[in-house]
Amino acid sequence: MLIYNTYTRKKEEFKPIEENKVKMYICGPTVYNYIHIGNARPVLFFDLVHRYFNYLGYEVEFVSNVTDVDDKIINRAIEEEVTEAEIAKKYLEYFLECNQLLNALPFNKMPKVTENMDEMIQFIQDLVQHGYAYAVDGDVYFRIDKVREYGQLSGKKIEELEVGARIAEDSKKENPLDFVLWKKTDKGITWDSPWGAGRPGWHTECVVMIQKEFQGKIDIHGGGTDLQFPHHENEIAQSLCMHGHNLANYWMHVGRLGLNNEKMSKSLGNVINVKDLIEKVDANAFRLFMLSVHYRQPINYTEENIQLAVREWQKIKTTFNQLHLKLDVAGALDVQEEKVAELEELMHQFTTALDDDFNTSNAITHFYSVIKEVNKMMRAKASEGKCKYALMTLQSMAYILGFDLKKKRLTLEERELMKSWEAARKAKDFTKADELRAKLQTLNVL
Ligand SMILES: [Zn+2]
Repeated sequence: MLIYNTYTRKKEEFKPIEENKVKMYICGPTVYNYIHIGNARPVLFFDLVHRYFNYLGYEVEFVSNVTDVDDKIINRAIEEEVTEAEIAKKYLEYFLECNQLLNALPFNKMPKVTENMDEMIQFIQDLVQHGYAYAVDGDVYFRIDKVREYGQLSGKKIEELEVGARIAEDSKKENPLDFVLWKKTDKGITWDSPWGAGRPGWHTECVVMIQKEFQGKIDIHGGGTDLQFPHHENEIAQSLCMHGHNLANYWMHVGRLGLNNEKMSKSLGNVINVKDLIEKVDANAFRLFMLSVHYRQPINYTEENIQLAVREWQKIKTTFNQLHLKLDVAGALDVQEEKVAELEELMHQFTTALDDDFNTSNAITHFYSVIKEVNKMMRAKASEGKCKYALMTLQSMAYILGFDLKKKRLTLEERELMKSWEAARKAKDFTKADELRAKLQTLNVL
């Protein structure tokens, strides 16, 4: 399997640190707001990565942090006249609820900053002790001069960055690019530290969480492309100094989502919340849309694009339901499957696409070909064994892509109704057939 590694700017063969195991981490949400469809892109993409590794037989350990203390949370708490903890709880619940609605597999762990404060303070202290950081008036800054590789991930040159940073120079810093590890403040919630009351900077969180949860380097570190600089660059800088490695063997970044070719942002007032969208649009159709573009490319959300996905999803669901129903009525859901060479080949092409840096766009094209093939098989009245193989192929692909493609088995009564309906149609008793169809529709069978 090939993965594009942002750190080396190359597609590289995936070699896990531990055999049959994938250690994966993505930067989690800052829980101060409802998550919007742009935030959902990394969630959906890394869920696909999680699922595909599962399918290949890997044990996946997937961790994502929760930033539950931050300026934005503090400001929101002041605004709403509640505590930071209440704000964090409310929006974390919303995030988790959205993940569930989107059919994303749960993370193995979601460590919170506020529950790891001792470790964070200790880590910053270690950086100071080794000369990688310095304290000034209760703030602590990281010395970027200590890291030769600074800028490697984002492809930025230190000299150019310094020119930009000097414009907004902070006189307390030795170098305008030095970033804050501990922030002295008396606004909102604070913690005691050797440098006085304050709270940690965002960039330290992930380094500390990864060390705590994985005790060393991980396979994959992911996030949105906007996190490359400065967040991920700064994570790497701290880890290189304290742990002697750059945190992850593969750095993966997901492109941005635009809304009608514009950036989606609160200030532009063009934000669509996940929950609002999936009240109107099937979560599966949204997923289909999100995975239809390669993850490193930007994706453009428009009403037209989402409606196209809605129609495509409807076709997928119809084919699956018809196939399931056909087998169910025949009492053949548990028959031994019979291989179908065309489907086997399409499944091979599907996994080959995913093996090439998770090319979901090509994989979905092969998924559509399977749908076509299945419709053809049903028209040609393929054997029960072949239909069962088709059903299993669809289910495997749906599992990997994260579609919720399930259908309940018929009850005895429903099966009898189905049989009577078929008999009435055959006998051209259309009045009776219509009656039975209406009944089956109310029962949600058709
Ligand atoms: Zn992070």
